[in-house]
Amino acid sequence: MMRTRNGTLVLLLLLLLPLLLHCGSRDERPSIVLVTLDTTRADFLGCYGDSLAETPVIDAFARGGIRYDRAFCHAPLTVPSHATMLTGRYPRSTGVMRNSDTIPESGPHVAEILAGAGYETAAFTSVKILSERAGFGRGFATFDMPESTRARPGEETVAAALAWLDARDEKTPCLLWVHLFDPHFPYRGTDGLAHYDRAASYDGPLRQGSWNEIERAAETGWSESDHERLLTLYRSMIAYSDHWIGALFEGLRSAGTWENADVYFVTDHGEAFGEGTYLEHANAIHPAVTRIGLIRKPPGRSGAAGRRAAGDEAAGAVVSAIQGGIDLAPTMLRACGIEPPSAMEGRTLYASTAEAPADRAIVIEEPPLPESAALRIADRNALFFPRPNGATATPARTSGEKLAVARGDNFFVFDGMGGETLLSLADAAHRADSVTGLRDDPGEAPGDMIPYRKSLLDWRKAHPLPDAAGNDDLDPETRRLLESLGYL
Ligand SMILES: [Zn+2]
Repeated sequence: MMRTRNGTLVLLLLLLLPLLLHCGSRDERPSIVLVTLDTTRADFLGCYGDSLAETPVIDAFARGGIRYDRAFCHAPLTVPSHATMLTGRYPRSTGVMRNSDTIPESGPHVAEILAGAGYETAAFTSVKILSERAGFGRGFATFDMPESTRARPGEETVAAALAWLDARDEKTPCLLWVHLFDPHFPYRGTDGLAHYDRAASYDGPLRQGSWNEIERAAETGWSESDHERLLTLYRSMIAYSDHWIGALFEGLRSAGTWENADVYFVTDHGEAFGEGTYLEHANAIHPAVTRIGLIRKPPGRSGAAGRRAAGDEAAGAVVSAIQGGIDLAPTMLRACGIEPPSAMEGRTLYASTAEAPADRAIVIEEPPLPESAALRIADRNALFFPRPNGATATPARTSGEKLAVARGDNFFVFDGMGGETLLSLADAAHRADSVTGLRDDPGEAPGDMIPYRKSLLDWRKAHPLPDAAGNDDLDPETRRLLESLGYL
């Protein structure tokens, strides 16, 4: 009886130890800050080479941190991409493959692990599909999201996060996740253009880039200037987001959290404007849509506006090894001195290209779509074809399982209809397709595709497709929400 009591006491003391140790004194473990920006193509950020971008905050952050040049999401959709970042597991492994799926209650989750280790945890999201109901509240003591089905502007989300930062005791390390949605279609040009100086004169129908406006423009013939206007609206929303990310970073500095924090800027997927016959991001497996911006400032570095501080040997480093959103959770845990659970499938982000094995492969997946949804997306995309430059293209019409693997200098796509494509990642623009082979019969693929196909087939064997529910059994509220975002 006594032994049991003593055992209970020891257990209690062990559980309370982190609290007792940190009571009154500063806990030196790093805070983790995760900023996720929706729908932002890496190559539309200044630090990734876009000369038309106005992203001074993100560019300065890259100059003071480590920029990952070949990072990929694991599904070109908001919910699966974020679920992978937080769990360190592939969409198939968690079952979160669609925007209507929910993160399961079991399995590793970075917020839950850090909360258990005494971290203060808070999440601020800008769209309701990233909700507690969808399992995103796991491990977060504070979870703040928009009340309505309308996405909230970055300004409001950042204000909520700053109010939380102001009220907290910075002696306790935190996990803070802030998600901004603004670069998502439609582009709400009125908000973004105030932050983007390059708005060219344009007198066509595209004010905000809504589908109604696009249909109107397509009726009279989609022109080069309409296309440019759409890109301007998109860039303007990225410029708007950059401004509010700057306000968040300033808030972290004034709260004294910045210097010792492990800060990540990451985009959840990109956006297509006709590349590979795609528009937007749903049903699109292409580098334009799956290559993401990923920048990290490890703890203990100033990461200040591009200046190299003492000890900042890696400031401004560019890592070209293949990485993925799946690597975020294990990297965060190791930064806090916690060994990631073996069920996490990612690995720690490489600090340099030399460190990475040449055969590192990242898989990107898209679940089979119901035929009707595939046709609806294809019909919408067809508004843009033939392309303004006169090139012809067939809109993608596929409801099969799509997979891609990014490895070395290439991006290999299995398109769900038996077709295979090898795209070059060495093409600096990443906007022009660089097709080196396309065969209907996989048996006839050129020799250089074989290692890529083999790694995809091996991965598929280890990751069988779960019996995921379709969109037929959605509750009315989720259905309305997904419809309002253009996913149904
Ligand atoms: Zn998204």
